[in-house]
Amino acid sequence: MRDSVVATIGLGANLGDAAATVQVAIASIGALAQTQLLRASSLYRSAPVDSSGPDYVNAVVQVRTALSAPALLATLQTIELAAGRERPYRNAPRTLDLDLLLYGDAHISSPALTVPHPRMQQRAFVLLPLAEIAPQLVSAAALHAVRGQRVQR
Ligand code: ATP
Ligand code: CA
Ligand code: CA
Repeated sequence: MRDSVVATIGLGANLGDAAATVQVAIASIGALAQTQLLRASSLYRSAPVDSSGPDYVNAVVQVRTALSAPALLATLQTIELAAGRERPYRNAPRTLDLDLLLYGDAHISSPALTVPHPRMQQRAFVLLPLAEIAPQLVSAAALHAVRGQRVQR
């Protein structure tokens, strides 16, 4: 793929059949135009943080994509909507959440998009699956800092 970038996406779901939703979302990401699925982590289970409802199912995937970062975010949001995502209030339980964690080594700060994702380093449910598929991106110190969070593969 010409002019392509490796992007890292975090997935989370805690309503309905969350594991099935995450698996379908991974397939949908792999089917995106100009985008190829490189690696997908196992599914992880985590207790909600600053949120409520059942445990989350989380995963992280890496793609190679020719989409721009804003275009990739927009397509991820269409996948969220297709899964029935609503945003009734901040940190509400959700059928599907897709966060753009990394876009190559780009640093982006616009009203709609901040990359790297500003909270990823504080979240074991991001760092553990990320370390599974891209260990070079996660430091031992970062993993140590989130060791108290309950995340189960
Ligand atoms: P958090 O960002 O803490 O994980 P959240 O995923 O629950 O919270 P959302 O309601 O899904 O937050 O998203 C709110 C807004 O965040 C979106 O409308 C989107 O424009 C913006 N946003 C900024 N940076 C990113 C990013 N890297 N990935 C996804 N959305 C982002
Ligand atoms: Ca999120
Ligand atoms: Ca989100």
